[in-house]
Formats: sequence, structure tokens, C-alpha cells
Amino acid sequence: MADQQVDLFVIGAGSGGVRAARVASHYGARVMIAEEYRVGGTCVIRGCVPKKLLVYASRLSDEFEDAEGYGWNVPEPTFHWPTLTANVAREVARLEAAYTTTLERLKVTLVKGRAVLEDAHTIRLADGARVCAETILIATGAWPHYGPKIPGLEHAISSNEAFHLRELPRRIVIQGGGYISVEFANIFAGLGSEVTLVYRGQNILRGFDDDIREHLRSEMTRRGITIICGHMVAAIERRGTEFLIRLSDNRTITADKVMFAIGRRPNVMGMALERLGIELAEHGGIAVDAYSRSSVANIYAVGDVTNRVNLTPVAIREGHAFADTLYGGKPTPVDHINVPTAVFSEPEIGVVGLTEAQARQRLNKVDIYKTSFRPMKATLSGRDTRIFMKLVVDGTSDQVVGCHIAGSCAAELIQVLGIAVKMKATKADFDATMAVHPTAGEELVTIREKTVSYGRVAAE
Ligand SMILES: Cc1cc2nc3c(=O)[nH]c(=O)nc-3n(C[C@H](O)[C@H](O)[C@H](O)COP(=O)(O)OP(=O)(O)OC[C@H]3O[C@@H](n4cnc5c(N)ncnc54)[C@H](O)[C@@H]3O)c2cc1C
Repeated sequence: MADQQVDLFVIGAGSGGVRAARVASHYGARVMIAEEYRVGGTCVIRGCVPKKLLVYASRLSDEFEDAEGYGWNVPEPTFHWPTLTANVAREVARLEAAYTTTLERLKVTLVKGRAVLEDAHTIRLADGARVCAETILIATGAWPHYGPKIPGLEHAISSNEAFHLRELPRRIVIQGGGYISVEFANIFAGLGSEVTLVYRGQNILRGFDDDIREHLRSEMTRRGITIICGHMVAAIERRGTEFLIRLSDNRTITADKVMFAIGRRPNVMGMALERLGIELAEHGGIAVDAYSRSSVANIYAVGDVTNRVNLTPVAIREGHAFADTLYGGKPTPVDHINVPTAVFSEPEIGVVGLTEAQARQRLNKVDIYKTSFRPMKATLSGRDTRIFMKLVVDGTSDQVVGCHIAGSCAAELIQVLGIAVKMKATKADFDATMAVHPTAGEELVTIREKTVSYGRVAAE
């Protein structure tokens, strides 16, 4: 016998789960949500928010340096890591409290602790109580994984722990080539650490446009980050307070911390999904349809646990669409095409749409417009950096199908460019738009010269 009955039980109070619970409750559903750690989930507690605050901190070192060329005399700045992490922790706690208050205000019942599925309608809570739900939403997110077992793996930290280090590592080795490892490499470098990034692939940021990958790699290298591609960390040995890290080519590096950010896996462990007939997709996430419904009719899943596009706004949109569909009488599929995204590296990356390689695979004719230039701010500061921009255009329809930017404000620019790409703006629309001067973004509406044009040769 169940102890309680609800219309909707949400497992996981992260970006997707909280949004779904709030909206469903707003529509009048009786909603209960379980959270085993802290309300807010990855984004608020150990992801986007605390990371962006560290990014702001790390970029100030450049600002101090750049100020001199603009006439400022800045005494040698000093940095205090414990102050930063304490301030970040305070902000995270404030946001967690705000999320909790919102759930309470909307009459969503929050239960702290792990929830597990007993059958398709029954959830068992950490205290053993059972809840019967008409519908269950799994929004359990994802978790860092460390790859194959290597000697000394227990010494490696993940991004989860990086926010809570007692002191800033003087030297850090980061393994991984995705956006999280690249961002942390830049954060630590900006704060003064000596950073080595190790990635087994040929270049960082797999899946991004090749020009962007190359540009970022050379900018990061110029900023003093050592990037080693084509190799992996093979062993970690503790030597007193430091670590000796052996790579797959036998070279060794000594560092104070080793961080692995090689990927995240959907949080499906211990959920008894198979027993209930909930199918997993090939990529390991819960398989769902466009309405986030799993292979069991009353069980849905949103966010990273479905391993579709693992970003906060996507999880939120999926959670919202789920609640609109089930409780708002508005069936809403989620469109995962042309999701704009950013990497908060130095320089920042903003991308939306197809890469050049993808466009060449899918389209008959592709026009590429590229530009690389020195930002105006660098003229007086003397900073050795360049901005890179690229438009990928369907040569048949003139539609802009991809925008790729590396440079300051790339994330802000791509948010707005995302609208243009979603609206199927053409290169002619870009050209007809008046420039805002003097900005970096004006280049996007003033690039006239095609860098290269590809046409598919008809097969004989
Ligand atoms: C370091 C880092 C930086 C990131 N930066 C960005 C960024 O800049 N921009 C961006 O868009 N995305 C970013 N992301 C990704 C983003 O955080 C996730 O895509 C997003 O949080 C996914 O939301 P979710 O609701 O699917 O899962 P989560 O937010 O992970 O929430 C899942 C929740 O479920 C809880 N849970 C799990 N199992 C159970 C259970 N059985 N019972 C009860 N509770 C359970 C977990 O404790 C967690 O709180 C970042 C991620 C990381 C790790």
C-alpha cells in the first residue's frame, strides 16, 4: 500500500525536474519532487552558475594587465582563492534557497533523499515510504565518469570537486577535450595556475567547427596553457603533497592536482529501469520520443538523463514542454535543431547550426565566409589575440546554416544570432542589416568576400 498518492512524481530537482514540477503544479497537478543532494541540480550547484563565477574571476587577471595601456596604474594584484570559493558557495546557497522557496510557493511537495522506482506507478523514498503516482518523470541528470581504471585513478578529481579545493593548485593537469575541461583549463590558467591539458583525440572540442578548434587551441597555447593531444593519462602516483602523472607515451608531469573531465554519463544506475521495461538508447540515456515519453507509457524523462543535448536551457525546455503536454492541454514536442551554445573559454566560443564539415556532408552547395581580426581593445592594451568569425551558408538557398565565433562576447552574440538562424535568415538578410559601430559583431554583417565555395560534383 502506498503511503501517499500524487498525479506527478519527479525524481531529481535539477533544471529539468524543477521546471516540470513548477509548471505541472501551476496547471493544478498534485506534484511531489525528490532530490538526493541539493535543490537546483548540476547547473546551480556544481555546473553553469559556479563555473561562470569562476570564469569572471579568472578573466580579471587580463583586465588588470590590459588596464596599463589605457593609462591605469594597477599595483601588482594578488588573488585569494578561499575568498572566491566562499563567495561562490554563498551565491550557490542563495540560489538553492530561492529554488526551494519557489517550489514551496507553488505547492510542490519536496522530499529530500534518494527516490527509486519500485514499479511503473510506485516510488520508494529514502525513509522507506511509498508514493503512488499516475505519472513519473525521471530527471536525474548525469554524472562525471573517469574512463578505464588506471593506477592511481582515486587521486583524480572531477569538476564536482574543483569548486571545493582548499587552495588554488599551483600546477594542474586536466584530462579531457570537451567544453568542461577547456573551460577549467582557462579558469585555472587565468587565476595563475600552470595548466596542462591532456586529450586523447587529435584536437580539443570534438564536434565543433575545425577552424574554431584550431583557433582556440592556438589562443590557449599562446596564453601559456600546455595542450597535449593524442595521449592519455596512464597512471597517477602520489609523491608527498604532489602527484607524478605518467602519460601514455611515458612522459611524466608533476602537478598538485589532477582533474578528469572526459565526459558525463546519464544517471540511470540503481534505477531498476530494465526491470520496468524502460529502454535505454544506444548512447546510454533513457530513450524517449519527441514528448519525452519513455517506452513505458506513464514514465517520462527529461534533461541529461536522456542524453539528447546536455545543456541547462534544453533540460528546462524539455521539462516545460512535458508539463504543457500532460497538464496544460498543449502537446509540445521539443525541437533540438539549431541549439546555440557557448564555451566560456578564453577566448569565448559561441556557435549555432552546422559546422563547415557537416554542411559539406548535407548540402549540395556550401559557401564559407571567414574573418579573423585583432579586437579594437587589443590595440592599446597590446594583447596578442585575435577574434575569429565564420558563417556557413547554404549556397543554393543563401540561408545561413551555421555561425561560429571565437572572441569576447561570443556567447552573447550567439544568443541573438541563434534567433536569425532559427528564423532561416539568409546571407542577404545579414548583409541588409546595418552594422553597429565600433563593435566586433559588425563583422558579421559586413563580411562580403566568400572565403571558399564548395559544390557537390554529381556522381558519374
Ligand atoms: C561543470 C559543468 C558546467 C556546465 N556548464 C554549462 C553551461 O555553461 N551551460 C549549460 O547550458 N549547461 C552547462 N552544464 C550542463 C548543465 O548543468 C546540465 O545540462 C543540466 O544541469 C541538466 O539538468 P538536468 O535537470 O537534466 O539534471 P541535473 O541538473 O543534473 O539534476 C538532476 C538532479 O537529480 C538528482 N538525483 C539524481 N538521482 C536521484 C534520485 N534517484 N533521487 C533523487 N534525486 C536524484 C541529482 O542530485 C540532481 O540534483 C554544465 C555542467 C557541468 C558539470
